[in-house]
Amino acid sequence: MYVSVFTIIIIIIKAIIVIIIIIIIIRRAIITEQDEFSRVETDAVPPEVKDWLSMTFTQSNNSTAANRKSRATRAKFRSVANCIRAGIMVDKIYRRVANTSTVQVPTQILHYYKSIDEWSFQLLSMNEVSDGHILKLIGLEILQKFDLVNKFKINLQTLDNFLSRLEVGYGKHGNPYHNAVHAADVTQTVHGVLISTGLASWLTDLELLTVLTSCMIHDFEHTGTTNNYHINTASDIAIMYNDKSVLENYHLSATFRVMKDPEFNPFNNLKPDDYKEFRNLMIEIVLATDMSCHFQQIKNMKSLLSSASENVDRAKAFSLIVHCADISHPAKPWNQHNKWTEFLIEEFFSQGDKELALGLPVSPLCDRNNTHVPESQIGFIDFIVDPSFQVMGDMIDKMLSDILQQHHIISTNNSNNNNLGNINKNINTQNINENASHHFSKTRN
Ligand SMILES: [Zn+2]
Repeated sequence: MYVSVFTIIIIIIKAIIVIIIIIIIIRRAIITEQDEFSRVETDAVPPEVKDWLSMTFTQSNNSTAANRKSRATRAKFRSVANCIRAGIMVDKIYRRVANTSTVQVPTQILHYYKSIDEWSFQLLSMNEVSDGHILKLIGLEILQKFDLVNKFKINLQTLDNFLSRLEVGYGKHGNPYHNAVHAADVTQTVHGVLISTGLASWLTDLELLTVLTSCMIHDFEHTGTTNNYHINTASDIAIMYNDKSVLENYHLSATFRVMKDPEFNPFNNLKPDDYKEFRNLMIEIVLATDMSCHFQQIKNMKSLLSSASENVDRAKAFSLIVHCADISHPAKPWNQHNKWTEFLIEEFFSQGDKELALGLPVSPLCDRNNTHVPESQIGFIDFIVDPSFQVMGDMIDKMLSDILQQHHIISTNNSNNNNLGNINKNINTQNINENASHHFSKTRN
């Protein structure tokens, strides 16, 4: 009798310990993001910038003044049906344009193509002579450079239709920043990273096609307002996506809706399994461009890199590269960064004007009469851009050293065979050292 009571007590104590451990693990997971964000010291940045960093780059949606007030319920579109009707109308207008469209590259563009692999590529200058087709011209050139058009039997006219349709969608709201030029910039930046490090050789053709297409569509039909704005105004797309990565879900969904029409789907010759992989990977990459995932994304990659045995997850690696390209303008030459900042701030101010008109609290950095632009950029560079590029540099270092190790194994196993296969053909160790440590760790110009 005594033994069985004692045993029961021991079991109860063990159960309590297990419950306590589970509670500690769950609490740690919940506070992870706050821990990362708390590194943004209160004294180091003005409160408004801290509010903006918190609101934009974390998933906490309750800490700002904007959210303390009651939420307005006025929707941007009166109904989802109106939203869809508007899309159909744009489609019809577009079709008339597309029917006359052909793939033609103006001669002055060829000059820019020569430096398309470079980090300091003058995209904004090219845009001035692109007659509104920067995304199409960049997209076509980059897909052609990797010979993806041939490899996936892409019909050039359909690709032209698709890229033109993307340009129409990017112009839908007349955004100063989130438009086709930004999409072209992210595409060219990712292309530059893949080429200059040699990583392009590590990707399969399907991955290359998917990563580059993800860049092109990642902000399709952006409304020029933030996710929090959509949530606070209970917009149709916030309701449609239950306040979760509202815009990112929308960009993907709107793109795949366009591609349901075979005339606008250049990827319809992909094998069914390839198309499935293309779609899955694209969804993962574009959803990861939600800035509120930033701290979690960086923390996950850091912990993966610190465990020597783990391989880098391919989809996570592509997502981080695209995320870094998405916030890369402070790492570009000053003339470009300066212009991008002007565009972005004007878009923020325009959101602030809308919030004022709706009687809502103005979001951080959106008040055109009371915003410190230089401080906001310093905060953005110090707490977001610089750490992201450090982690991306470390990640690329690891990926390339894994490839070189594989190269060593292959060359040892095939000592009589000079053909080391596709995997290493473009890897340049000088690039690895120079680019990974130089480009990606220097974010200020
Ligand atoms: Zn973007």
